Amino acid sequence: MTLKMHRDLFSRLESGRSGEITMEDTFSFECDARCMGRCCNTIKIMLDPWDVEAMARHLGMGGKEFLGQFCELEEDPHTGWPYVKLYEAERGPCAFLMEEGRCTVYPVRSRNCRTYPVGRAVRFIPEGGKEEKFFMAEKQAFCFGHSGAKAWTLRQWLDDADSLEYYERSDLYFELINHVTDVLQCRRWMNSRTAKMIMPFLYGPEVLRTKMGISEEAVDHQEFYRRRLRAVKVLLTEMAAGFGFGPAVKDSEGEDVEDVSVMEKVKDILLKG
Ligand code: SF4
Ligand code: SF4
Repeated sequence: MTLKMHRDLFSRLESGRSGEITMEDTFSFECDARCMGRCCNTIKIMLDPWDVEAMARHLGMGGKEFLGQFCELEEDPHTGWPYVKLYEAERGPCAFLMEEGRCTVYPVRSRNCRTYPVGRAVRFIPEGGKEEKFFMAEKQAFCFGHSGAKAWTLRQWLDDADSLEYYERSDLYFELINHVTDVLQCRRWMNSRTAKMIMPFLYGPEVLRTKMGISEEAVDHQEFYRRRLRAVKVLLTEMAAGFGFGPAVKDSEGEDVEDVSVMEKVKDILLKG
């Protein structure tokens, strides 16, 4: 889901045009092998940077290699932001779908895959913080899950799939896009070269670790993910300032840091947090 889709959905849920569900609401759902994984066939699955990282690690490959082998970029026409989606899933069966309908990367399946049929829209508040709303995805005729007998509260459903951790990491990414879109007004200056430049920060942790000599023992995956997203924010804030948009880059004490090159700032964030 792109940031615009989040926003549109949030507005629909807020106005009551779509039905919101809360943590204690209940529904029945149980996957049934008769569908042979139909939901993983001819569907757009958007991936967050954490989805790519987790799946790539599970498969013993780097994020860059994963992107080259399984993904395709889709540039957001409203912002120029480079979204990533699973290439084969959109054109036919997902690359990870086995013949009998099971998923070969099930423990690390993407946020979207693990939360279905529940959807969530998030809205970031300019003063800080966020609001979230949950809903049930539209029922598909091919899906037997809705006639399953197993009952869940929304909270149980999300807990069962460890979805809250995935939402938290996804929100860090969408908060970045929100900032770049609203504060830095990226639609006025972002182009495909800029998008290409930020790709290793978003999707190639192994590339950055090798370049910077940062081991997994020194900085764990989650912390490195947070640092990478922060580095992208600083990098793009600096670029936007060069085009006359957004605020100046501040250091951790909130002071201007005029005489340090942007690459030095980025390195510092990756190395020290
Ligand atoms: S990653 Fe797994 S669950 Fe997600 S679409 Fe592919 S096969 Fe289905
Ligand atoms: S969600 Fe529906 S279509 Fe997908 S595997 Fe479960 S029962 Fe089948």
